[in-house]
Amino acid sequence: MCNCKELPSSVVNISMSYAFRGIELQGVKLFPEYFNGLDSERFEPELSYEFEHYRCKDCGQYWYIFLDSDENPSPWFCVKYRDRGYEPSKGEIDAEKQFLTILAHNGFGSGNCRASKCSNLKLKGKELCHLHLSLP
Ligand SMILES: [Zn+2]
Ligand SMILES: [Zn+2]
Repeated sequence: MCNCKELPSSVVNISMSYAFRGIELQGVKLFPEYFNGLDSERFEPELSYEFEHYRCKDCGQYWYIFLDSDENPSPWFCVKYRDRGYEPSKGEIDAEKQFLTILAHNGFGSGNCRASKCSNLKLKGKELCHLHLSLP
């Protein structure tokens, strides 16, 4: 059985995000449904690096799926969409990545990002902003 229905509009399996591994992130504890990944195993087409758009065979949910680089790839970062013809644009996908990055850190700290010429606030507990330290 899949868990598509219980999931929000975008999810990331943060245990695959090596840049964030082993670091306690407040938002991951507070909002776990966003960070435990997608549990379906049956997709149409089958998961492969040729495709980005899938449909869950169990429930029919459409997903944009970014796969990890394993030999048997599994979903790493996923965005729901409602039907064929409504595939999310690159801008929409980037917006979801930024949202999840900010959520994982439970927002911003005070002070600016250390990257040169960046005037964004830094993520809580980090020295960089959501553009310079982004999931997945
Ligand atoms: Zn499903
Ligand atoms: Zn920045």
